[in-house]
Amino acid sequence: MSLTIENLHATVDGTPILKGLNLEIPAGEVHAIMGPNGSGKSTLSKVIAGHDDYEVTGGRVLLDGVDIADLEVDERSRAGIFLAFQYPAEVPGVSNANFLRAALQSRLPKGEEIDAVAFYKQMYARMDELEMDRKFTGRAVNEGFSGGEKKRNEILQMMMLDPRYCLLDETDSGLDIDALQVVAKGVNSMRSPNRGFLVITHYQRLLDYIKPDKVHVMADGRIVKSGGPELALELEKSGYDFL
Ligand code: ADP
Ligand code: MG
Repeated sequence: MSLTIENLHATVDGTPILKGLNLEIPAGEVHAIMGPNGSGKSTLSKVIAGHDDYEVTGGRVLLDGVDIADLEVDERSRAGIFLAFQYPAEVPGVSNANFLRAALQSRLPKGEEIDAVAFYKQMYARMDELEMDRKFTGRAVNEGFSGGEKKRNEILQMMMLDPRYCLLDETDSGLDIDALQVVAKGVNSMRSPNRGFLVITHYQRLLDYIKPDKVHVMADGRIVKSGGPELALELEKSGYDFL
């Protein structure tokens, strides 16, 4: 079982951004991607999630061996892909609780109704773990949330949706050290032999809390270097001069 990316090429408005990217994230592992700004890290995460702005011009994304090219973004989500955005969108007029409930409802077989009591119980338990105030239940999704509150909310969604493969795009940016620890605890509580993580970050600091199995460096639309956790420490010291 793995999320496997083979020779992926993708463009935005005709400009090539991903230029033959290969990556395999076996279930049970946490892989980190680091790399300079503009190297295509967010593009990679959005292409995997099925964002319409990006056109895949070559290569494949395989979820447990199945090519997901023909799946729409919602189908990819139901198939087990989750993306925590670098810049989470605000959804005015839709409360956090209704949003999560609708997302979970869409995963049930036709005719089956979500158990409201169990849903709230689970949501409150997860919010407690993330040290989120319950007032966020009734507020519109991300509307007027601070940067850190948005990032916690992304992790709440992830915990509720219980995905197979979690993509976290700079979830640590905008978090103070306390919030970082809370978010890392949430992520670590979800680590399991059945679930893989791709963690995009600029900072070694996050990887002190979320220990990666592998670290990859991305530059100009490709993975140019891979290693163990020590690679993140090296990058922190020496930067990307080797590129
Ligand atoms: P990173 O996350 O590594 O900083 P991105 O994937 O955000 O890099 O961006 C890679 C390149 O693709 C950048 O040059 C960026 O301007 C461009 N790009 C990404 N998304 C879009 C978009 N929707 N429209 C135009 N250009 C984009
Ligand atoms: Mg980015």
